[in-house]
Parts: sequence; C-alpha cells; structure tokens
Amino acid sequence: MEIVIAANCKKDPGTIVPLVDLKRCEGKGDCVNVCPENVFEVRQIESHDYEDLNLFRKLKLRAHGMQVAYTPNADACKSCGLCISACPEKAITLARRWW
Ligand code: SF4
Repeated sequence: MEIVIAANCKKDPGTIVPLVDLKRCEGKGDCVNVCPENVFEVRQIESHDYEDLNLFRKLKLRAHGMQVAYTPNADACKSCGLCISACPEKAITLARRWW
C-alpha cells in the first residue's frame, strides 16, 4: 500500500487561499509566526471591515487593540494548514480560489 506524505498533497501556490473571519480574529499573530510563505500581516482593521462588525465584536476588537490578520500574500499559500492549527480563535479556513 502506498503511503501519501502530507507534503505531496499541497497545492500549487494560489490554488487554495486562506480566508480570515474578522468576526473571530483577535490579531494575536500566530498565523504570521507559523506561515512558511509569509501570507499574513497583522495590522489595524480597515474602517469598512470594522463597520461590518456588530457591537459586541467591535468592543471585543477594541480590547485587542483593533488588530486583525490580513492576507496580502495569499497567492503564495501552499495549503499546508499550519495557520488553521495555530489560530487560537479558529478564524482561518482554506478555500479554493475561483477568481
Ligand atoms: S495554509 Fe500554510 S501556506 Fe497557506 S496561509 Fe496557512 S500557513 Fe501559510
């Protein structure tokens, strides 16, 4: 029986991209630390994203310094899954890129 090593299952860069749920993200930066492709950046939430949050999430985000993770280098993602495991808020999912 052939054993498939996880590394062989990785997709070409940009096929799968990480999506950050800003309703859950608290900008702790674990994704930045674990991603071997430097996909993530933690910075102040953009105003239009902030306005999309409900009052509870806005207050929660203020308590965390208004910091969230963005994915400026999403095209480099190789779908290793490390960010999903590392995120304490379970805010990251991987999705096939259709655009
Ligand atoms: S799946 Fe891997 S390569 Fe893609 S963003 Fe997460 S840690 Fe980076």
